[in-house]
Amino acid sequence: MSIYETIQQQAKALGPWLRETRRDFHAHAEGGWCEIRTGSLVARRLTQLGYEVFLGREVCRDASRMGLPTVQRLDAEYQRAMEQGADPEFAPRLRGGFTGVMGVLDCGDGPVVALRFDMDALGVVEAAELSHRPAAEGFRSNNEGVMHACGHDGHTAMGLAVAEVLMNLRDQLHGKIKLLFQPAEEGVRGAKSMVDRGLLDDVDYVIATHMGQRADGVSQVSFTEDGTLATTKLDVTFSGKAAHAAMVPEQGSNALLAAATAVLNLHAIPRSSQGETRINVGTLHAGTGRNVICDRAALELEVRGATTEINDYVERYARRIIQAAAEMHGCSWEITPMGSSPSLQSHPELIKRAESVCRDKLGLRVLSGVKAGASEDFAYMVNAVHEHGGQGMMFHTLSPCAGPFHGRNFDFDEGDMVTGVIAFCGIVADLLQ
Ligand SMILES: [Zn+2]
Repeated sequence: MSIYETIQQQAKALGPWLRETRRDFHAHAEGGWCEIRTGSLVARRLTQLGYEVFLGREVCRDASRMGLPTVQRLDAEYQRAMEQGADPEFAPRLRGGFTGVMGVLDCGDGPVVALRFDMDALGVVEAAELSHRPAAEGFRSNNEGVMHACGHDGHTAMGLAVAEVLMNLRDQLHGKIKLLFQPAEEGVRGAKSMVDRGLLDDVDYVIATHMGQRADGVSQVSFTEDGTLATTKLDVTFSGKAAHAAMVPEQGSNALLAAATAVLNLHAIPRSSQGETRINVGTLHAGTGRNVICDRAALELEVRGATTEINDYVERYARRIIQAAAEMHGCSWEITPMGSSPSLQSHPELIKRAESVCRDKLGLRVLSGVKAGASEDFAYMVNAVHEHGGQGMMFHTLSPCAGPFHGRNFDFDEGDMVTGVIAFCGIVADLLQ
């Protein structure tokens, strides 16, 4: 039996386990930097399988973490994770927003391949209607307001199945495998801390997958050279001066007006002729009462661009508008970066090679050249590997997904996780033979 046939057989045998594991992660969804239960169970499984396991501060650089929740929130999430069955051996090392895990399998001389799996869920209240399968079949999120609405529960389960298959194949592989279980992909906050910790320094190939919507009914995986958008997430506060709205309005500085002026003008930033741009102000909170000049306003916004340069253009413009809007109304302002990612450009040679492995050696149905769309902080990892001459790429594992991504009734077909595991292991086998 060829190594590719072995991979197919083993991945298929793991189908029921993948389903069960994904459902467990789904029912215990955890947000970015709070993946205590998830991360500790990943660490335990990798240890059981025989991987050398690194976690916590060993894999996340403190100062490079972006968009951390408050200390109180981190503590509360830790307690909840412990109550929900986090592994007591590993959980303490993940505490305080150091929720990354890496498993290393050394198979002797050869290239170093890193695979990235993201573990975090979103701040979404999951649908409870019985038309939503997780609700109907009893694995809806126990954690109200936190939901795996982007399929990262599936990515994490796939990562552990990949770990098992590759461990079984280790005698036929030559090189080193690093499995990176990344925190806080949502909001593009986590990847940079793993890159800055040096985990990609010796890596020749880095690969990740994301679930994608299967449009044509037959394709199983998709590859594209088209990149994802670069992005920056900013929190902005305007500070003014409160005053009586009737007696001394001229003595106040109206932070609400500054913020409202900023919002309208942020959405009026000119497009770039160089490529796609996006801007969105997602939240705006201001004011304390009807008859009080507002002294504080806070908004959350994001900008995106087809390339890092185009994103920088929108961000610079946005910062200028925020400053001008504040000054216009005599307010001060503060801008806090909450997350960022460069654009992602997969390496054409690696795409070609992986595509041919999937099609010709694994017999998968491959879709090429679809547009990638959103943003993905895996870009930091790809760029780090490209910088020292390696190759990186992202592919999509396609599924007939229910509901929109990030929507309250998102779900995917669990059988498609097997396809992702086959693709990952086949590509690694090709690179390390
Ligand atoms: Zn996602």
